[in-house]
Amino acid sequence: MRKPIIGANWKMNLSCDEAGQLYTKMSALSELESTVDLVVFPPQPYLALLSKMNGVAIGAQNAYAPDMFGAFTGETSLMQLKDLHVNSVLVGHSERRLHFGEDTDFLVAKANTALSLGIQVFFCCGESDEIRSNGTAITFVENQLEPLLHQLNQAHCPLLVIAYEPIWAIGTGKVPSLEEIEEMHAAIRALCSRYFDQASSDAIRIVYGGSCNATNAKSIFQLPNVDGGLVGGASLQFDSFKEIIDSI
Ligand code: PEP
Repeated sequence: MRKPIIGANWKMNLSCDEAGQLYTKMSALSELESTVDLVVFPPQPYLALLSKMNGVAIGAQNAYAPDMFGAFTGETSLMQLKDLHVNSVLVGHSERRLHFGEDTDFLVAKANTALSLGIQVFFCCGESDEIRSNGTAITFVENQLEPLLHQLNQAHCPLLVIAYEPIWAIGTGKVPSLEEIEEMHAAIRALCSRYFDQASSDAIRIVYGGSCNATNAKSIFQLPNVDGGLVGGASLQFDSFKEIIDSI
């Protein structure tokens, strides 16, 4: 019912030439046509270049909101992204929450401004290892999502992708069990259905992120409530990433 979606989060990696070459290869993947939506999130300075290459969809790893233009040295506005035909943005990645102090109010405002401009939002959530160990992961993630869902305009549900990314799994090679992933995704889906009518909440895609690779992708993507993935490290090598795409 929902078309799977995979995000490639390149983080602060690759030279400009390397990014162009990898993007060209990814854009040529014939699998993409009907089976899966792909969004590449390159480093911010390469957005303009990739946007001119007219390949697969590109997204921004960050944007500043709610202001559209103004005196915010070093920031990129959502309007400027639209100008470059960048129609997706990552919001709430744990690295931004942790290293740049982005809090819930700021993230919800950013997500809603993006959505109101027609920009797709990958809203990231996920618990630390401490929270996973003390058995409160689901409550923690629900608390991260409720302020967003509470303010979300129902009409924007098709533009929302929720990325469940346990912090302890990001870049570590550790992955939750399939039961843990499915349990969390089912809980997120149930939460969405408390806020929106059936068709709208069904339109929200929920993807898994955190050490997803060519070996584990297939079993994760087969879970009933997993609609794809957000892939960091394994999206930097074309061959491993192609295997992930082929697993969907
Ligand atoms: C991420 O940072 O969004 C991510 C999923 O990273 P990795 O795949 O490297 O764990």
